Amino acid sequence: MIVMKFGGSSVGTGERIANVARIAADVTERRGTPPVVVVSAMSGVTDALRRAATTATAGDQDTFHLIRDELQQRHKQAIDDCVSDMEHARALRAEIESLLNWFETLCQSIYTLGELTPRGMDVVSGLGERLSARVVAAAMRSQGLKARTVEATEIIVTDNKFGNATPLFPETRERVQRRIVPLVEVGVIPVVTGFIGATLDGVLTTLGRGSSDFSATVLGSALDAEEVWIWTDVDGVMTADPRIVSQARTLPSISYSEVAELSYFGAKVLHPSTIQPVSSRGIPVRVLNSLRPENPGTLITNDAVDEPLVKGITAIRDLSLITIAGPGMQGVPGVAGRAFGSVARSGVSVLMITQSSSEQSICFVVRTVDHSAVVQSAGAEFELELMRGDIDAVTSQDEVAIIAVVGAGMRGKPGIAYHIFGAVAERGINILSIAQGSSEYNLSMVVSHQDVDEGVRAIHQQFGLDRIGGG
Ligand code: ADP
Ligand code: ASP
Ligand code: MG
Repeated sequence: MIVMKFGGSSVGTGERIANVARIAADVTERRGTPPVVVVSAMSGVTDALRRAATTATAGDQDTFHLIRDELQQRHKQAIDDCVSDMEHARALRAEIESLLNWFETLCQSIYTLGELTPRGMDVVSGLGERLSARVVAAAMRSQGLKARTVEATEIIVTDNKFGNATPLFPETRERVQRRIVPLVEVGVIPVVTGFIGATLDGVLTTLGRGSSDFSATVLGSALDAEEVWIWTDVDGVMTADPRIVSQARTLPSISYSEVAELSYFGAKVLHPSTIQPVSSRGIPVRVLNSLRPENPGTLITNDAVDEPLVKGITAIRDLSLITIAGPGMQGVPGVAGRAFGSVARSGVSVLMITQSSSEQSICFVVRTVDHSAVVQSAGAEFELELMRGDIDAVTSQDEVAIIAVVGAGMRGKPGIAYHIFGAVAERGINILSIAQGSSEYNLSMVVSHQDVDEGVRAIHQQFGLDRIGGG
């Protein structure tokens, strides 16, 4: 069995949706059995839905109506462009309209209450996938395929961490097997809503922004799929974000651990959790371009090919560098433990840690949205030391980014750091902090926002990544 996920731009218009249906038809014909399809919302729809909810809660009574109208128009146009059967198209338009009416009522209550809980936000955000899945399934039927919309709330069981829920695997597996396998066995393509799931009690949750990739691998794992194919708008996983480095190249293959590092440190092409459900089971993932389906894309498997040395360079922005510094920290055991204990208590995750060898300071990086919670919590933890002057201050430097250089081939090769930091220094870029992951797959540095793009380009060029076989 193959699980295929189509992202927002792949289902962004009726024409694109018709293209998705053609790809599904082609795969069904070639393999003799239908794929399981996972879809994102049409591009931009999730953002629009969220904007409707936040403006409503802020007392704006107009925006959500306008957004509702736009969404209705956009989906109606898509249906006109990809659903040929008139009767079928009419029924679908009515269904979409009733979902959007319900959305409008929901926004009206958010407006009236002036309150938006994470749970309410999930219900609103998840509507985009529920709309697009219906249109995609209808487009497939228009092309003579058998297809059925499946709400992921029926099959992906999660905890109740709204906005960023985690799937519960045994429960999910049981439901996926029960609901999806019988459809595929009778030749029906299940078209599953990405991004969403539900708690054991059936309350809708979302798995985090951009998480339809993760939905696909959760299903892939639960179905013991042969492979998971992520269809997107670029040719595969590239050596850098093509919007930053115009010479970025598509990687023919990459290992699970390398791609996990790349996505964790900002390569938007895959959600950071994508690899986790499939890597331990050895299920390969392919990243493919839905507009150029003949291209081979990137194959992600267990095997790390050591060449080229550096596979990719990524950047993650909107971070803060927190520093705890002072003369009284040297040689005092437990300072790091207490510092990270206080961060953990504030519920924030740390992206990178460094400590200078003099032990006079500890630096770590968190998302800027979390920085005040962290500074407050660390300040409380070290209240006594701050009073005594053993610690000077807990400070936060904002508008910084991590540049991560990733490649299994870097392991045990001397001189790599020299080349990386040399390339950056040559451009006059100031490095605020450095860390190397224990896997040696990843060398990361913190720079300020204004230097990110230039830094990524410098390293990309240094390792010849724009040339085939670079490194
Ligand atoms: P989808 O809607 O299909 O999920 P996304 O927009 O989430 O697509 O991800 C694809 C985009 O990720 C590409 O258009 C590209 O701009 C961006 N991107 C960032 N880093 C990389 C990378 N290393 N390789 C490929 N694409 C990347
Ligand atoms: N539509 C969701 C989002 O925009 C999920 C996804 O696209 O993967 O976050
Ligand atoms: Mg995506």
